[in-house]
Amino acid sequence: MPPAKREDEWAMKPPAEKRHGDNRVGSRLAAIRSAHPNNLMARFLDEDYFNALDTQERERLLQIVRSGLDNPDSQIGAYAQNGADYEDFGPLFEPLIRKYHNIPRQQDIGQDHDWSLMGSRCHLDDIDPGLKGLSARVRVGRNLATLPLPGGMTRAQRLELEALMIEAFKMLRGNPQFDGRYLSLTPGSSLAIDEAEFQRRVRTHQMFEDMRSDPYLTAAGIAADWPFGRGMYVSNSEDFLIWVGEEDHLRIISMGKGGDLAALFASLHDGLERLAGLIPAFAHSRRYGYITSCPTNLGTAMRASLHLPLPRLTAGGADLEPAKKTASRLGLSVRGAGGEHSGAGQGGLVDISPRARLGVTETGIMKCLYDATAALWSLENAG
Ligand code: ADP
Ligand code: MG
Repeated sequence: MPPAKREDEWAMKPPAEKRHGDNRVGSRLAAIRSAHPNNLMARFLDEDYFNALDTQERERLLQIVRSGLDNPDSQIGAYAQNGADYEDFGPLFEPLIRKYHNIPRQQDIGQDHDWSLMGSRCHLDDIDPGLKGLSARVRVGRNLATLPLPGGMTRAQRLELEALMIEAFKMLRGNPQFDGRYLSLTPGSSLAIDEAEFQRRVRTHQMFEDMRSDPYLTAAGIAADWPFGRGMYVSNSEDFLIWVGEEDHLRIISMGKGGDLAALFASLHDGLERLAGLIPAFAHSRRYGYITSCPTNLGTAMRASLHLPLPRLTAGGADLEPAKKTASRLGLSVRGAGGEHSGAGQGGLVDISPRARLGVTETGIMKCLYDATAALWSLENAG
């Protein structure tokens, strides 16, 4: 056997990867760190740790961090490919997760769940009756413990997931509140929709976009085999949706206008419970809560968002930065009205959502959305 080589280069990557100009992981990381200090993967991936791993582990880790290496402007830059990755590659993930979710080193990471808000009132009417017409959305990400996460799935596994979900949806249909139909994107499926319907559903913010247009998901392997195994269940009332095969195996979504955030939350919980009874267990750990592809979603895996017009704080929709700065002090993230990586919509319409998902409960997130919306709305109108 030849002597073991000291592999401190991309040398352990497949040959195609070596064609990238700079092929040393260490120098690549250093370059990203100096140009993009907010790329958390580059900040927390230690070269000595990387080099001390065996070849197989290094291959796994490279796949996890590929998105952040190929897209230096990533905010996170690491996507788990398997549920076990968070523990197996703790020296990268733990500090990254602590930083993003703002959990100090001396505090244990742990996740409790609490949906008790459902009995209380949480209505936009109480902030300003004018906000009732805004669109609100609450989603949770879930992954089945029995399959790799989307970045690590084969095409056969993507199809296996979709087939399993189609069977579950048949049973979900038995409940009048959630009765609906499954719209598949898999070519040749008997449930497939055409391009026009797909585009229409994207425009109405129900359906996710062609994932290949997202360079972060593409580099992570999450957009692979598009559009096989992808689709969406939509209830007849169109306010309850389940995405299949996007960034997580499942995204379960309640969406609607009217301002009653507690009702939206209750409907999500009800649909989620029903669904959970029809399929294998979700990946979950005591420490990290629900396991998701992106470390930002761990914990509750819940994002509660509101499409709020902020014409003043976005300079009429031209600049999201002032809105982001103000919202961030209130614990909110700001996205464009078309979702992540999009710009503001007409009249400065933005997507605001509490940033924290790990170490906070589901009820806590809804309360944060309500309180921070009230504060942000008064700041918008104070100027
Ligand atoms: P997530 O990652 O939580 O699923 P994305 O930012 O990827 O969210 O957006 C997915 C889709 O959901 C986009 O079309 C986005 O505009 C839409 N969306 C998000 N929040 C709302 C909302 N409150 N009302 C209407 N559509 C929304
Ligand atoms: Mg998304």
